[in-house]
Amino acid sequence: MLFEWLFPYQCLLCKSRSDQKRDLCSYCEQSLLSLKKRCLRCGLILESESSICGACLKTLPAFERTISALDYTAESAYLLHQFKFHQRFVAGKVLADLLSKSLEETYQGSNWPDLMVPVPLHYKRLIGRGFNQSLLLAKNLNLPVKIDHHLLKRTQHLPSQVGLSGNLRKRNLKNAFAVNKSVRDKHIAIVDDVITTGSTVQAIALQLKKAGARQVDVWAVLRAQIH
Ligand SMILES: [Zn+2]
Ligand SMILES: [Zn+2]
Repeated sequence: MLFEWLFPYQCLLCKSRSDQKRDLCSYCEQSLLSLKKRCLRCGLILESESSICGACLKTLPAFERTISALDYTAESAYLLHQFKFHQRFVAGKVLADLLSKSLEETYQGSNWPDLMVPVPLHYKRLIGRGFNQSLLLAKNLNLPVKIDHHLLKRTQHLPSQVGLSGNLRKRNLKNAFAVNKSVRDKHIAIVDDVITTGSTVQAIALQLKKAGARQVDVWAVLRAQIH
């Protein structure tokens, strides 16, 4: 009893009592955190010594940098799946904690964005799922950055983009988002749960830049190794 009182959290991965104040033990946490060198711009794992990947060198994305907490592994995908499709909000809290940690290491307490905007869901998808996972992650980040979840609107309901080619995704997404006020000279972070090809955040960043944003950063829990 005393033991449970002292260690009330249970690790979502190995099911043992957590030695931390979250539902993840420090051992599993270490194995989850990404230590790989990633493209500063888009977050892809780099094979070479450069700091920007070949794809970004060829065409610079509309966002300035990407910070993702975890590599795409069976364990990280499991946690995200539990959160997103089984409403296990403790998994969402753990993922937000890990993202906060990576962000604090990256920004070192300075140059925080002025605001964060979660990737909006179309209302049809919102009704299906019951919550917007990106908004919930943003709310759990616990950082000195304001959330604005009214700035961006999803104007089109798109069928799942999984399996579509990069070009087709880009074309579909081109007008899928609208920014409803000026963000002149603002530094903005887009918050997403997972980045696959990056075309969603690219489409949003383009709109934010059109609306005057000075800098756009992308924050995601997971970054898949796809361009
Ligand atoms: Zn564990
Ligand atoms: Zn890149």
